[in-house]
Amino acid sequence: MSKIIDGKEISSQIKSEVRSETDIIKKEKGVTPGLAFIIAGDDPASRVYVKNKGKACDEAGFHSVTEAVPGDITESQLLDLIRGFNSDEKIHGILVQLPLPAHIDPKKIIEAIDYKKDVDGFHPVNVGKLSIGDNCFIPCTPLGITEMLRRKNIKTEGMRAVIIGRSNIVGKPVASLLLRPEFNCTVTVCHSKTADIKSVTSEADILVAAIGRADFVKKDFIKEGCVIIDVGINRVEDKETKSGYRITGDVDYNGCFDKCGMITPVPGGVGPMTIAMLLRNTLDAAKGEIYG
Ligand code: NAP
Repeated sequence: MSKIIDGKEISSQIKSEVRSETDIIKKEKGVTPGLAFIIAGDDPASRVYVKNKGKACDEAGFHSVTEAVPGDITESQLLDLIRGFNSDEKIHGILVQLPLPAHIDPKKIIEAIDYKKDVDGFHPVNVGKLSIGDNCFIPCTPLGITEMLRRKNIKTEGMRAVIIGRSNIVGKPVASLLLRPEFNCTVTVCHSKTADIKSVTSEADILVAAIGRADFVKKDFIKEGCVIIDVGINRVEDKETKSGYRITGDVDYNGCFDKCGMITPVPGGVGPMTIAMLLRNTLDAAKGEIYG
């Protein structure tokens, strides 16, 4: 079996499942999954992310709407936009691309989204439900990570999982998910104030790196045979490439490759899974599988 956990391959399986199920609900129930994107300002990376998500929606047979608004939009105008989508029956999921312009409070915006349309899983109701183990929308990147573990038949029960990073969008929800009875891991979360981090990570059977620091995890951080999930997306200078940079993860891939049991590459690992799980969440919203 290959050591590489191929996120591209797994995500294309999920996308084709989503496409087939979408065709069925369109035919049988006359329902087309609908996703609304809101993007404020002209951050080039955010624009590319939204464009790619919109393209994935088209390929899945979804209806999607993108509201690209200027960076000086007021908070109340943005809230009105969200309220409009909350009451739009054709829209089953709402995604506000982060980060928002500095004058807008992201908490207020996220809380304004109807939690039944919160396909990003960032609304406090969904965060709370994830934590107590109720059915809810689960953030796409953490869900993509556990879906990779599941589809690769990686044993999780009783395994020691160490997560580096405690963000609300990756680290914390990954920890909540891996604690659930369907995974039954023993979970430790590390962060920038963790003392002697290597002594913790070197006990991990499953190591999830979500830090945002290129090649942070070296060979001497890991246990022989462990499974490494590299969430990081870092741009590093590389004069040998046409663009002058390359994308790398939080793990020193080449340094860790021989020692680990399995590893996700960057790019081509967790990244493609995130979009696939956004489609999955939106389809589940349209089918009423999460909140009826
Ligand atoms: P974030 O909000 O910046 O959080 C980073 C976390 O890493 C924080 O908890 C921070 O600790 C911790 N950290 C930073 N330096 C550390 C150090 N030296 N030792 C130990 N912990 C350290 O980042 P994020 O949003 O979770 O994203 C993390 C990475 O994943 C980024 O590269 C991002 O681009 C990537 N990402 C990828 C996807 C995808 O689809 N593949 C999705 C989301 C994010 P403190 O809390 O103590 O500050």
